[in-house]
Amino acid sequence: MPGFALSEYRRLVVKVGSALLIGEDGNVHRGWLEGLAEDVARLVADGHEVLIVSSGAIGIGSTVLGLNKRRARLEDLQAAAAAGQVQLVHAYQEALSAHDIVAAQVLLTPEDTENRRRFLNARGTLAKLIEHSVIPIINENDTVATDEIRYGDNDRLAARVAQLVMADALVLLSDVDGLYTADPGKDSNATHIPEVANITDEVQMMAGETRSEIGSGGMATKVQAARIATHAGCSTVITSGAIVRPLEALAAGGKCTVFSAAGSPAAARKQWLAGVLEVRGELRLDDGAVTALRNGKSLLPVGVIEIVGNFRRGDVVTIVDASGNEIGRGLAEYSDEDAQRLVGYRSEDIEAKLGYRGRSVMVHRDELVLFDNER
Ligand code: GLU
Repeated sequence: MPGFALSEYRRLVVKVGSALLIGEDGNVHRGWLEGLAEDVARLVADGHEVLIVSSGAIGIGSTVLGLNKRRARLEDLQAAAAAGQVQLVHAYQEALSAHDIVAAQVLLTPEDTENRRRFLNARGTLAKLIEHSVIPIINENDTVATDEIRYGDNDRLAARVAQLVMADALVLLSDVDGLYTADPGKDSNATHIPEVANITDEVQMMAGETRSEIGSGGMATKVQAARIATHAGCSTVITSGAIVRPLEALAAGGKCTVFSAAGSPAAARKQWLAGVLEVRGELRLDDGAVTALRNGKSLLPVGVIEIVGNFRRGDVVTIVDASGNEIGRGLAEYSDEDAQRLVGYRSEDIEAKLGYRGRSVMVHRDELVLFDNER
């Protein structure tokens, strides 16, 4: 069946492009946003978890500050982003609150997804927001991100977010309804591609060049985003959002291009962990902890009997059983020094031991891979 089976994917990252959100007057297109909020509310009611990555801060801010976006300099655009972001999030908050849904603003820089220490922080916070049924409205922190250290476009940011939260699907809503064999604006023979099995160089070529103007990634960055997300086990779909209820239309079989992921996000994460070459330390566990891990639990400090090596939060450590047999590996939530102080203690004692309110686990179950005998 053509189209995209949205209902089969539980955790969704929806990316909203500026062109959809900003009306002709340069302000938030409220009617459109209300439709999106309605779609999101229905998805939430059906048991989906939704995260939104939204562009538009620079566009709205340019209207507010009276800037000509094409002639403005980077600093002006950053100032515009600051002014526009507050309006953007406020508009989402209003639209979602009509459905009794709470919105939260999350601004990220590439450091937050590429650096493993920061990655654990961003991931932990997003996981909590999802747990509290809050919808994160995510954008790049344009105010501080300069050219060398920015994602630059929200397509790739959305893919990184999808990877971070182990989303099952990434929906890229834009003003085009998918990938074509050539640019349909320039070539009348261009045909729509409903499904891409492999993102080959040829596919990337069809998407053309990345447009450099801030706020418009173009098709090339969407295909790059699909590549990042599908490698992380997250299926990706490009569809037009230029209709009143875009997600409903997509679920009803709307025109789109689907990039299916081969495995699940959990499998991709474990494969990545298993393949990391730099292992910095070792945690030795008692038998109870080994059993708990095999039953799908996180590793708590109380189950650790010995710590070896020098590692920092976010580094990969080997996990061994009481007799020293390697049973798996994972990302350490603590440095070796802090971990040392927590050995054998219960999670409730962490604050007293460290002097700050730390994380309750030593290794989170999502950041853990167990070898052989995995049940
Ligand atoms: N972060 C930019 C904004 O909010 C958008 C970047 C993009 O559209 O890709 O205006």
